[in-house]
Amino acid sequence: MEKKDTKLAVWICQGCDIGASLDVEAMEKVVGECGVSACQSHPFLCSDEGVELIKKEIAAGTNALVIAGCSPRFNTDTFTFDGCLTERVNLREMVVWSHAPNDEDTQMLAEDYLRMGIVRAKKAHLPEPFETEIDKTILVVGGGQSGMTAALETARAGYQVVLVEKEPELGGWLRNFARSFPKTPPYRDLETVDLASRVKELEEDDRIQIHCGAAIEKISGQPGQFDVSLKTNGSTTQFRVGAIIQATGWKPYDASRLGHLGYGSPNVITNVQMEELAASGKILRPSDGKPARRIAFVQCAGSRDEDHLPYCSAVCCRVTLKQALWIRELDDQTEAYVLYKDIRAPGQYEDFYRRAQEDSGIFFTKGDVVSVNETGDHNLVVDVENTLIGKQIQIEADLVVLATGMVPAAADGEAIRQFRDAKAVVDKGEAGAQLEGAKQTVERLAAHEGTDVLHLDYRQGPDLPALKYSFPDSHFICFPYETRRTGIYSAGCVRAPNDFEACAEDALGAALKAIQSVELGSRGATVHPRWEDRSYPEFAMQRCTQCKRCTEECPFGTLDEDEKGTPLPNITRCRRCGICLGACPERIISFADYSVDIVSSMIKSIEVPDEDEEKPRLLGLLCENDAYPALDLAGLDRIQHSPFIRFIPVRCLGSVNVVWIADALSRGYDGILLVGCKSGDDYQCHFIRGSELMDTRGENIREKLLQLALEEERVRVEQLSISEYHKLPRIINEFAKQIEEIGMNPFKGF
Ligand code: SF4
Ligand code: SF4
Repeated sequence: MEKKDTKLAVWICQGCDIGASLDVEAMEKVVGECGVSACQSHPFLCSDEGVELIKKEIAAGTNALVIAGCSPRFNTDTFTFDGCLTERVNLREMVVWSHAPNDEDTQMLAEDYLRMGIVRAKKAHLPEPFETEIDKTILVVGGGQSGMTAALETARAGYQVVLVEKEPELGGWLRNFARSFPKTPPYRDLETVDLASRVKELEEDDRIQIHCGAAIEKISGQPGQFDVSLKTNGSTTQFRVGAIIQATGWKPYDASRLGHLGYGSPNVITNVQMEELAASGKILRPSDGKPARRIAFVQCAGSRDEDHLPYCSAVCCRVTLKQALWIRELDDQTEAYVLYKDIRAPGQYEDFYRRAQEDSGIFFTKGDVVSVNETGDHNLVVDVENTLIGKQIQIEADLVVLATGMVPAAADGEAIRQFRDAKAVVDKGEAGAQLEGAKQTVERLAAHEGTDVLHLDYRQGPDLPALKYSFPDSHFICFPYETRRTGIYSAGCVRAPNDFEACAEDALGAALKAIQSVELGSRGATVHPRWEDRSYPEFAMQRCTQCKRCTEECPFGTLDEDEKGTPLPNITRCRRCGICLGACPERIISFADYSVDIVSSMIKSIEVPDEDEEKPRLLGLLCENDAYPALDLAGLDRIQHSPFIRFIPVRCLGSVNVVWIADALSRGYDGILLVGCKSGDDYQCHFIRGSELMDTRGENIREKLLQLALEEERVRVEQLSISEYHKLPRIINEFAKQIEEIGMNPFKGF
């Protein structure tokens, strides 16, 4: 339905090759045919003069604009006008820079995009922000390096902070480490860890409330309104916060699984145990208390190993360099043998590595440690294969130190594995003793699915979802610190293995994200990736059939449900992806400027040539996160693509409602191309599951095609990352060719 009070004006920019490639007068005529009388063109609309003209028009009462010119991804601030809905029509990148100039098909393309833009501007509303009370206090869970830094920096930015630590004192691993590798030039000398002054600073800051020996019992609510129950010394306190930083750190990989490397022998210890020994000032062999003078450090102990930790923990090499120098400092008669796969000392730490190489008592040997055995006289023999000299060697040592890696402390990896395995058995439902055992495991671990920190009262589970290696991370390039729960950010080793410095940087990043979350929330706007978006999903509940598709498919746990299955939105958890809109079979979910009706109307607004004109029409639904910018980039490089396809940006491929496919086919489009971000474990889908959902909804699309007696190939789904932008025109052209071969849609003209 069109809005009654819209006063719409259309502006066509002629700059950047547009005027030279298109018949602008003919386009002005199209605007008139769409029922809009106010239409002007300008040689450079982004110029001061152009913008002033638009502002004057707005001052005279215009409340909706169509600006046909460059991509909406350019000149965004220039063409944003308070209180005026602005629809950008991409004539530059998607038309004149990617198609032949002054060509009939290019002209038709431009005119169709103009029709689509006008329909959208007529139907969309300027979003009214969702107003609710937002508490700006930040809760930091974890009082180690990351948590303490996050708390301090958040407080320094002027926010109230509640810092919760499960141990009786602050400090985390800093309490166990007396020395650290260097953080400052010349990156050669060990540094002393000064925890006391950090703790003092925290304790003296009256914006920070510290709770040690405390555990979270429950967190309910949503960003801006998280209600926290905290248990300290048997008593429960309750308070409200606006955002949460989880900085619960790491724990060492379970060395008891490294029997082949000698763990279990008293003289085989971990790098964490070595820290305590070195801090004591004397390196004495545990079995007989004699000084250990030959110490072998086994690098990657259980790391970069598919049977243990497949990843590198990034810090173990530098910890070993530090410990080797430290033990030499304590006793220059001691020799250190470092047995490594690769020494990883990134950046300036190369200088620190050199310092260790220069030490005549530190020996480096590249190879694979295959076994560590006791000799019977308290000594140990380390067998090393694949050495640089091509031979197997043996090293006799008094003490062996296993450089074990880091696992996130938030998630008990073993418990998660057990829960998932047991659940798979239960889900399969095969009879037998195994099923009974699996049921008991699921029951035991169901409350927290193997994780045990935040105790969120969310339909999707009580903690941050643990991903591939149990880290509750989001995509490490596109959205670090973000988690799958809006308003909750992860920092430090709970997110990825890090050293102390990197943890501090991480904490800053997460602190900024948490601050952004409460500030944006207080303006009724959402966070990354639709940063500042003030639209939000509205539900026409009277038509809801309680099918639960929206509650199940929302990737951010926004929607709780009542006992009948009616969705209960928690709007500040929402990231406005539109996946619920795509999921809802009743089509009752809409946003002020994005709805089933708006996109359907855009699809239907174009001119479809008759079958005998042999000009196919294709619809492209492009995810606005990677695919749409990718096509812009291809345009910037002047890579040409078929003029027969009409693109509409969508918030996420998961926001595509199958009815749009049906509408397009009924309207006479010959084929539909859907392009989203890459799914999978190292996903890039900005809304986590959108691309994947499109795959699963593919069955509905196939059914629809079957009902219409159309070929399956008329609908194609592609996944692409922005860096593959040059591939997109090729994908489009191949699809157009395939559709030409299949032939025109028989519904054309009906
Ligand atoms: S828009 Fe996305 S985040 Fe918001 S409720 Fe819908 S599915 Fe959930
Ligand atoms: S998907 Fe639509 S019909 Fe189903 S529960 Fe959600 S709102 Fe109701």
